[in-house]
Amino acid sequence: MTPELRDGGPVPDLDWDRAVELISSADEIALACHVSPDGDALGSMLAAGRALRAAGKRVAASFGDRRFEVPRLLRFLPGQDLLVEPSDYPPAPELMITFDAAVADRLGVLAVNAGKARELIVVDHHPSNPGFGTLNLVDPGAPSTTALVEELLGRLALPIDEAVATCLYTGLVTDTGSFRHASTTPAAHLMAARLVAAGVDPEQTSRRLWDSAPFGYLRILGAVLGRVSLEPGVGGGLVWTFVTRDDRAAHGLPYDAVEGIIDVIRRTDEADVAVVLKEDDDGAWQVSTRSRGGTDVARLCAELGGGGHARAAGFTSRLPVEETMARLRTLL
Ligand code: AMP
Ligand code: MN
Ligand code: MN
Repeated sequence: MTPELRDGGPVPDLDWDRAVELISSADEIALACHVSPDGDALGSMLAAGRALRAAGKRVAASFGDRRFEVPRLLRFLPGQDLLVEPSDYPPAPELMITFDAAVADRLGVLAVNAGKARELIVVDHHPSNPGFGTLNLVDPGAPSTTALVEELLGRLALPIDEAVATCLYTGLVTDTGSFRHASTTPAAHLMAARLVAAGVDPEQTSRRLWDSAPFGYLRILGAVLGRVSLEPGVGGGLVWTFVTRDDRAAHGLPYDAVEGIIDVIRRTDEADVAVVLKEDDDGAWQVSTRSRGGTDVARLCAELGGGGHARAAGFTSRLPVEETMARLRTLL
C-alpha cells in the first residue's frame, strides 16, 4: 500500500508492538464487541476471531446483550461458531480485546468481565473513546474498526482469507455507508481494493446487508413514513419519526429489521438533523440521530447518556416519545 495514503492515525508503533507481544504470548483470548452489534462491531470481532483461531489460539467471542442474538442481517458473516453466550464467557480473562466500543458501558453485561481482565486491548475508532483499556488502539481517523483490525492482523503476520476479508469488508461498508460518508478516505478505498482482491464478493455482501427485506418491511416503512414530522425551525431543520414494538409485531419484524429506516429519513433536504426512535423488545427506545454537519450529534447524544460520531450517534431513552423529543429540541 502507498504509505502516504495510509490513515496516519494516532496509534504509535510502540502500542502496536505491545499488542503484537500480548497477543503472541497468549494461548487464550477473549473477544467482545458492543451490544446490539452492527456490521463493524461484529465484523471486527469475527475477523480477529477467525484469524487468531487459525493461528492456534483458543478464542471466545461475545457481546453483552441481555437477550443474546445475532442480528438477522449479519447472520451471513463467517465465524459465528466462535460466539458464546455472555454467561459462558471467561469471567476474568488473561487477555481480552474489545471492538468498536467507545466506552466500557457499551459492552453491556461484559463490562464486568472487561473490568476483571488482566490485559484489556481496546480497538476502536470513536473520537470520544477515553481509552478504557490497559492498551488502546484507537484511531478516530480510521473509517471503521475493521480498518484497525486489518492493520493488527498485518502486524501479527496473519493471513486474510476470503472469510476474514468478508468480515472486514462488512465493517468498512456499513460504517462508511457504502463509501458515502465523510469517513470515506483514500485509505478506505484502498482497503476495499485489498479485500475484494482477497475474495470478497461486493454484490453478495451489499445485497445481504441492504437489498433484501421481508414484505412486512415495506408495510412498516409506509406506517412510519406516514407519521414523519418536519420541524424547519429546530436545529437547522429536524425530521423525525418513531417505530413502536406494536408496529413491528403487526408486521412480524424483529428489532434489527427497522434499523435502516434512519437512512430513508435522513435524505430530507429541509433538515440538518434526522431522528428515528425505535422501541426495542424490552420497551426501551433506541434513538438514532444523524446530521448533515450543522450539529455535532455525538455531543447531543452524550448529553442524553449516549454517544457516537459527529454525524451519526445514538442514545437509549426510557421516556415516552414526546418527552424524549422535547429534551432533544431543547438541546438543539
Ligand atoms: P445507530 O443509529 O444505531 O446506527 O448508531 C449510530 C452510532 O451511534 C453508532 O455507531 C454508535 O457509535 C452510536 N450509538 C448508538 N447508540 C448508542 C448508545 N445507546 N450509546 C452510545 N453510543 C451509541
Ligand atoms: Mn458500531
Ligand atoms: Mn464503527
